[in-house]
Amino acid sequence: MIENKRIFLSSPHMSGNEQKYINEAFETNWIAPLGPNVDAFEKELAAYVGTSGATATSSGTAAIHLALELLIVGQGDIVFCSSLTFVASANPILYAGAEPVFIDSEEETWNMSPVALAKAFEDAQAKRKLPKAVIVVNLYGQSAQMDELMAICERYEVPVIEDAAESLGSLYKGKKSGSFGHFGIYSFNGNKIITTSGGGMLVSNDLDALARSRFLATQARDTAKHYQHSTVGYNYRMSNILAGVGRAQLEVLEERVQARRDVFDRYVKALGDIEGIHFMPELEGTYSNRWLTALTLDPEVIKVTPYELIDLLEEENIEARPVWKPLHMQPLFEGCRFYSHGEGDMVSERLFAEGLCLPSGSNMTAEEQERVIEVLMKHLLAHKSLKSDGAFQRN
Ligand SMILES: *Cc1c(COP(=O)(O)O)cnc(C)c1O
Repeated sequence: MIENKRIFLSSPHMSGNEQKYINEAFETNWIAPLGPNVDAFEKELAAYVGTSGATATSSGTAAIHLALELLIVGQGDIVFCSSLTFVASANPILYAGAEPVFIDSEEETWNMSPVALAKAFEDAQAKRKLPKAVIVVNLYGQSAQMDELMAICERYEVPVIEDAAESLGSLYKGKKSGSFGHFGIYSFNGNKIITTSGGGMLVSNDLDALARSRFLATQARDTAKHYQHSTVGYNYRMSNILAGVGRAQLEVLEERVQARRDVFDRYVKALGDIEGIHFMPELEGTYSNRWLTALTLDPEVIKVTPYELIDLLEEENIEARPVWKPLHMQPLFEGCRFYSHGEGDMVSERLFAEGLCLPSGSNMTAEEQERVIEVLMKHLLAHKSLKSDGAFQRN
């Protein structure tokens, strides 16, 4: 049943070098959180993204939580956050006891709308309560409009946390995604572009803040001979074994980016001419890692919905997913404020309703991708021809 082998949305892709670093950890008995692999992984990642330093964490979520702690976000504070994202972007706001305010997307990047952000700031200013931080997400590898967003935040002197969990290896105007904010975070969860099975990284040019992040991430132990603690700490550090996996993965990151971009290009070549299909754009001056190939289906033209397509693909043992459900629509965040891109124009809601993520793994073979494309063509064209009287031709 080789032809029905499952095709995953995004599965781990080992380089083969991981075992070398894991063995080193075993041979030296560094089977602990912290150790030489952790130090080296932090240095190597910081050098790659171009920040002064980095702190390796147990997850990307933990890294966001640490960033909020470092910015002293607490009870009663407000944090602005992209709405169209995975829940992990905003959960740490709740850990901190703060209130999230969600910001809509724009068409050009699917990411935070500078227009909506400006509106949210004007309102906050009028109410004399500015946010303590702004969490900007770079969705599916595409950088947000960092120049515009940073300029707005700088005007109000509010620090930015860049959630680059999905955009490691992407560029914005030649600079690495995740290196723009006061803090940036990455994730090495199993489905991300490189993985340590689970893990994350906090990056910054603020070395004092990073030193404090390490303190907070290891139970906030004071300098004393006995165990002494005067602040709440966390157990958020990365294990030395997993950091070894990360080092080997980082060595092949550029190849992984290229492979995912090739996957994207093959989808565009096969499906790009079908009316009503719009692939996620790549903003001029940016370079996306194309972590996931995402597209929208115009319901006016294409009569099969993203959900129906996901089910039809599933019948062929192919995993596809909807676009993230905007956080302002989630029961968890009911009652939270939301600023839309335009008056009555909720871009994130439309992207959610029309969006679809296709299998995009760097280890997916061309044959496997052909299988995905065949299923898509069959259903897209069948539904298409119903409407256009069979006149549609693929060129
Ligand atoms: C994966 C992801 C995270 C969380 O990372 P974990 O390592 O799984 O905690 C945060 N934000 C976004 C946008 C993500 O995709």
